[in-house]
Amino acid sequence: MTTQLFKNYIGGEWVAGAGTSINRNPSDLGDVIGEYAQADAAQARQAIAAAKAAFPAWSVFPIQERSNILERAAAEILRRQEELGRLLAREEGKTLPEAIGEVGRAGHIFRFFAGEVLRHGGETLPSVRPGIDIEISREPLGVIGLITPWNFPIAIPAWKIAPALAYGNTVVLKPADLVPGCAWELVDILQRAGLPAGVLNLVMGRGSVVGEAIVDSKDVAGVSFTGSVETGRGIAAKVVSRMGKIQLEMGGKNPLVVLDDADLDVALNAAIQGAYFSTGQRCTASSRLIVTAGMHDRFVAAMAQRLAALKVDDALAQGTDIGPVVDQNQLDTDLAYIGIGQREGARLAFGGELLERQKKGFYLSPALFTDADNTMRISQEEVFGPVAAVIKAQDYDEALALANDTEFGLCSGIVTTSLKHASHFKRHSQAGMVMVNLPTAGIDYHVPFGGRKGSSYGPREQGRHAAEFYTSIKTSYIAP
Ligand code: NDP
Repeated sequence: MTTQLFKNYIGGEWVAGAGTSINRNPSDLGDVIGEYAQADAAQARQAIAAAKAAFPAWSVFPIQERSNILERAAAEILRRQEELGRLLAREEGKTLPEAIGEVGRAGHIFRFFAGEVLRHGGETLPSVRPGIDIEISREPLGVIGLITPWNFPIAIPAWKIAPALAYGNTVVLKPADLVPGCAWELVDILQRAGLPAGVLNLVMGRGSVVGEAIVDSKDVAGVSFTGSVETGRGIAAKVVSRMGKIQLEMGGKNPLVVLDDADLDVALNAAIQGAYFSTGQRCTASSRLIVTAGMHDRFVAAMAQRLAALKVDDALAQGTDIGPVVDQNQLDTDLAYIGIGQREGARLAFGGELLERQKKGFYLSPALFTDADNTMRISQEEVFGPVAAVIKAQDYDEALALANDTEFGLCSGIVTTSLKHASHFKRHSQAGMVMVNLPTAGIDYHVPFGGRKGSSYGPREQGRHAAEFYTSIKTSYIAP
């Protein structure tokens, strides 16, 4: 069977890249999803030029037509939810139900921003000088560069593309090299929905080549990036040095606090789902399980039992709870951290072993450490795999202090039946998102998403707050 070749999309044309790369299924290394174009820096610059040329017309494009295009894209994504979900599960390795859910999220994001196009307005205020009116409006920035990671191959491109286009910007998208398939389908859907040539451009390829060309271009007014802290820091320094606008969403070391008064079932569900589902490859994963002394031993025993019942297997197989790790590099990182945790003196209470399945893939059993303390590397550094550590706290006050003792601040959670502790935690947790009696992972698409400290930088993503990044404010004074 011949492998299908997927091209880049620049200025309204599908064009071959400077090279190609093979997209493989992490559940079955013999399964090739396709061959995807790899752009070079010159091609990335062509995409930026196409987006720049398309901006003047798109920035004033009739809002009803702009909304219709986003709505048509939403309808197609939702109509093809299952098929796109299969592609997502095949290229990234999350389970089919998780992947179908992610595609649904992408569809609803486009529907939400189809509405935002029409709702987007400004403000008028009287001037302190008699007879003058002041109008505060928001205008698009120009060309936006979007650089996305591998772990949410359709939702993250969707939650950046939809507001960028809704508010009148043109876009150059560079998806992660590991998962170009869903981004390609998304761009294909949007171009067939009626986007004018040049408004949305796709340049697949390496971050160090295509990503850098986007970051370095003075014609790119803003860069929205999701990925690792190290890459994000480097990108921010470059974009800020040329006075570009920047938005970064990066890592997490999210705590889930479980108090003595918690409902044990609620705590177990939140911990299992938050730490291990999607193979733990989520920036919102709860990799630190901070449990108070009166609950600790019961929680650890029950967690080991629950983990033993989970099925790690092919992402597309029925009944799989946890799919494979995304690739060999991430698997090596996960195994390295499991070794580090053991050498640091934490006890590997469950899992952390390579698994063999019917087909060759990157299978790892979920790893649970106990007897960890918060200063260990496994408690401070993001692993980005199915690895979590239980840290014992004497009481609520110590649990809160431990939860906040991290350089990250994306999401935090608490499981408790005490309104007093839930309210206090919600107020004093140093995170951008707080969950009470819920897993740290699992967020809505119509409200702000983002963190504090080392996790995020710049305005929030998603919901109507997305306008803060994708627009620039203008204050006009009007005298009669
Ligand atoms: P990376 O930072 O390696 O890559 C993210 C994106 O940046 C990819 O598209 C990558 O391209 C690109 N890139 C890499 N180097 C450069 C560069 N020098 N200039 C411009 N672009 C570059 O992260 P991963 O894709 O490995 O994703 C995992 C990480 O992302 C984790 O640490 C996780 O915490 C974080 N993450 C954070 C989220 C959040 O919202 N807070 C959500 C999801 C993930 P390529 O890969 O093609 O080389």
